[in-house]
Amino acid sequence: MGQDGGFRAEEIDTSRPHPARIYDYLLGGKDNYEVDRRAGDELAAAAPEVRIGVQANRDFMRRAVRHVVGAGVRQILDIGTGLPTSPNVHETAHAVAPDVRVAYVDNDPIVNTHAGALLSGSGTTSTVLADLRDPQAIIDHPEVRKVIDFDEPVALLLVAIVHFLTEADEPERIVATLRDALPAGSFLVLSHATSDFADRRDAEAVYNQATATLNLRPKAAVMRFFDGFELAEPGLAQVPFWRPDAPSPAGSETIGIYGGVARKS
Ligand code: SAH
Repeated sequence: MGQDGGFRAEEIDTSRPHPARIYDYLLGGKDNYEVDRRAGDELAAAAPEVRIGVQANRDFMRRAVRHVVGAGVRQILDIGTGLPTSPNVHETAHAVAPDVRVAYVDNDPIVNTHAGALLSGSGTTSTVLADLRDPQAIIDHPEVRKVIDFDEPVALLLVAIVHFLTEADEPERIVATLRDALPAGSFLVLSHATSDFADRRDAEAVYNQATATLNLRPKAAVMRFFDGFELAEPGLAQVPFWRPDAPSPAGSETIGIYGGVARKS
């Protein structure tokens, strides 16, 4: 990291695709490099619905944020922020309630720097460079604690990130550690890639050279991340079909991303 908390150009790794930059490319963003665009094109070849899928995932996240803020939650812990695509989580939340506080956490320095530049001085948001694989460090992080009070309900966002954890990372234990830090009345918003609707195992190979691997999981495995929470209607659904507020684009039934919103009681 540079002295100002940013990074020097030589620290940006353009030799390997980064999940955040692949995702940005698929969303039509500009914060990506040749390696990421190549990986994104390979992904779209293996899973043609991926471009509408990433958009549907983003739209799910916004509907879910409006849902939890509408339910009264005023603090959001968003792990796996991604590169900023407006409206982001805090903008969506603030449209419902301007006093919502958001901690953005990502392990990619490029994401952290972009998010920090976008959000600096807002007072209601923090941007934190940390890794989901060390959940206790996130819970204890002073920049997280600046905006999140773990004695009040929190909405934990794990949107399109848990599929970057391998079984060896013990993803269920990681999510459970975060859950146990949340008081009653908190929410989990989670989305996760799957091969349940079309065989997309070839898509996993695209991430073999990337900085994180893709780990598609069937419905039963994704359901386990909601242990200790009660799923809101309609339960775990393909993201375009979770409380849609507009007609879904053609081909949505093949989108291999589950999404759900659940409450801890
Ligand atoms: N949540 C956003 C972005 C998803 S892209 C959305 O759904 O629109 C996935 C993000 O997770 C990327 O920014 C990537 O850098 C981040 N990520 C992947 N593995 C991570 C880890 N182990 N710890 C923290 N962030 C991680």
